[in-house]
Formats: sequence, structure tokens, C-alpha cells
Amino acid sequence: MRPINGHQIGNVGSERGGVQLKYLGTAGWEITDRRTVVLIDPFLSRLRRVTPNDTVDPADNRPLFDNAAIAQSETATIDAHIQRADFVLMTHAHYDHAVDAPYIECKTGATTIGTESTYHFARAQGIPADKLIVVRGGEDYAFEGLSVRVIPSLHDVLRRAPNASLPPAIFSTRSRT
Ligand SMILES: [Zn+2]
Repeated sequence: MRPINGHQIGNVGSERGGVQLKYLGTAGWEITDRRTVVLIDPFLSRLRRVTPNDTVDPADNRPLFDNAAIAQSETATIDAHIQRADFVLMTHAHYDHAVDAPYIECKTGATTIGTESTYHFARAQGIPADKLIVVRGGEDYAFEGLSVRVIPSLHDVLRRAPNASLPPAIFSTRSRT
């Protein structure tokens, strides 16, 4: 694994059943059986930002991203690590999961599966509707070489009471050989 914007990225574990996992940092993963490439929450730009859970890396001299800033993907970083994708699975549309997805979707032509907010974010960034699948949880898709089951879950359940809003989606994927 090697660092990218202060985080580790790279292949982890061993290949089992021909499936290879590559950790993209944060919540991001690339899963492939060499025929189909699936990305989960690919966020490689790692906007320089202070959060309740993270401090700013003192070696990171990029501009600090705050709530008044317009997020922009670091396309050179993405291009160095993402060559192709058939599907992008978005658990939810918070910036630290979703901000790089439209660039990756344009670059690869991948179909994105995510919540309604993911759909609207992607459409606002110019992604065509026919490349977006909206899920609420409970869906079960069978694609060529891949199945995806969408499992609803709660966000921030340990920091806030679970209430009101729709839960983000969690995906379970299975390679179909
Ligand atoms: Zn979130």
C-alpha cells in the first residue's frame, strides 16, 4: 500500500476465487474478477478539511476545504488509480463518499447505483439518467457476472439517535462465475 493525500491506498489481502480487492481509502474499494470492475464509494480527492473525526495532515499544503468552498475532484489522482469501472455503488451522497463519483462515471461510463440523493447529485453533474439506478434498500440485482443486494442501514447511529431521515444504502456484492 502507498500513501495518497496522507492516506494508504493499494491492494490488500489475497486473491480468492479470482476476485481482487483494492482499498481506495476512506470507505472506497475496487472489487474485480478481471471481467467486471465494481467501485464502492470511490473518494480519492481527500479534500483537505477539518472534521470532528479527522485532523488536517500538516504535510498537506492544499487549500483547506470548508462549507463555503465548491468541491472539485483531483482528476490526476483519480486517473492514476482508476482506469475502468462497470458499476459504482454509492452508500450515500455525503461529499467524502460521492464527490469524485461523477468524474469517474464520465471517465468510465459506469452505471451508478445509489440513493435518491446520489441520483440528484449525479444528474446535477451531468450524468445521464440511464446510467443511474436509484435504490431504497431491499433490491436484488443480477448483472452479467455480478449480483448486488442492497441492504438499508443507518448513518451515524453511534453519534446520533437513529431517526427521521432515509438510511443510506449498504451493498452486498457477489461475483457470479
Ligand atoms: Zn456520511
